[in-house]
Amino acid sequence: KRTSPAQTEFYQAVEEILESLAPVLEQNPKYRQHSIIERLLEPERQIMFRVPWVDDDGKIQVNKGYRIEFNSALGPYKGGLRFHPSVNASIVKFLGFEQIFKNALTGLPIGGGKGGANFNPKGKSDAEIMRFCQSFMTELHRHIGPHTDVPAGDIGVGTREIGYMFGQYKRLMNRFDGVMTGKSKLWGGSALRTEATGFGCVYFAQELLNHRDKSMEGKRCLVSGSGNVAIYTMQKLYELGAKPIACSDSNGTIYHPQGINLDLVKEIKEVRHGRLIEYCETHDDAEYTATEDYPDDGEAIWRYEADIAFPCATQNELNEHDAQCLLENGIEAVVEGANMPCTQAAVDLFVEQCTAFGPGKAANAGGVATSQLEMAQNASMTRWTADEVDEQLQCIMRRIYRDAQHTAEEFGHPHNLVLGANIAGFRRVADAMIDQGVV
Ligand code: NDP
Repeated sequence: KRTSPAQTEFYQAVEEILESLAPVLEQNPKYRQHSIIERLLEPERQIMFRVPWVDDDGKIQVNKGYRIEFNSALGPYKGGLRFHPSVNASIVKFLGFEQIFKNALTGLPIGGGKGGANFNPKGKSDAEIMRFCQSFMTELHRHIGPHTDVPAGDIGVGTREIGYMFGQYKRLMNRFDGVMTGKSKLWGGSALRTEATGFGCVYFAQELLNHRDKSMEGKRCLVSGSGNVAIYTMQKLYELGAKPIACSDSNGTIYHPQGINLDLVKEIKEVRHGRLIEYCETHDDAEYTATEDYPDDGEAIWRYEADIAFPCATQNELNEHDAQCLLENGIEAVVEGANMPCTQAAVDLFVEQCTAFGPGKAANAGGVATSQLEMAQNASMTRWTADEVDEQLQCIMRRIYRDAQHTAEEFGHPHNLVLGANIAGFRRVADAMIDQGVV
């Protein structure tokens, strides 16, 4: 029952999951007897707080901070922090809810949580970012800990922001521990954490294609976004012989059929913190479409002909009209790098048409899985090489694919990895909750 109409994204995520859980609930009356769904839908704890900070003009600014500690049946709460003006209680709650199932699917001992602030890092000076991060952590530090709740990055939160927050935590607690992941490799971060979500997403796509006797070689790919997930998705695509031909940011889309110049995108986004339109200054054969010129019923990037689509920017960025265009243009696979980037109607279309579809919960789980590997390294005060981490990441992504695929087959829907991933994750969490009694 919808009791809070403002929580649109949260209800969307809940509906998507509950729909696919129907067969497992029917098959196992114990889940109803133990009121698992009712308990799962209610976060164990939600923290909302004021984040006051002083801008470069000496003016006091105030933002809203959030941390949702959703479910700890399988381990400490784990999930990223998002800094974006659109962040609100519904968005943090949908992300936290999804995170429970994603983390369970990795097979690693991590619970689900998420957080963030309605802070816009764009156009802020480095000093402003630092003051904001310090203020955010001044409240958050009392709720987190290496065995309690271990935040990481997400949209708007990368190594720089994690550094400022970790520094403040250390100062307040007088402890150097594994309380956050996504740290710099210089001081406790894991090799390959930066690349992990994008790399994992492509490993997942590879499994999807292999299962259909196809390979990544020569595939033309549309990759939305140009942030952390998009960049390292594109990098791994090139390494495996595929070709990203389009990417985007919140101002527009670049289409470059010769292949996206990834070094330039990294320079613009990671070094200059600039806008993608700058790409055209050196590539006059690339086409740029500003958001004002997007089709009325969707996004420009999904209107190009390609073999695989990787939505890697944000929630609800690919709707049913976009899905229809992709299908008409003969798309072979759609793999979600972002969280809930496809609307429910779009997912339904892909599933109906038996398109190879990798749901975000499974396909983008490489990031949080590598975060857990970072926690393991921190706890044992060891450090693994990039090759060691990559080997584990590939192994985890294969296992996630296999679990989702086998579960989909078990329930008679071999092409529906949405159902397979949701049920596989759910069973782990639900069984752990039953074992731990009514808490
Ligand atoms: P970043 O902040 O690094 O990048 C986000 C990118 O998406 C930016 O290029 C941003 O453009 C673009 N973007 C944001 N909104 C829109 C929009 N409406 N239209 C087009 N582009 C847009 O975030 P991440 O790459 O870390 O995260 C991307 C997605 O992946 C999110 O859904 C996140 O939850 C998910 N995810 C991330 C993980 C991680 O390890 N980082 C792990 C698992 C999931 P601009 O620069 O203009 O803002």
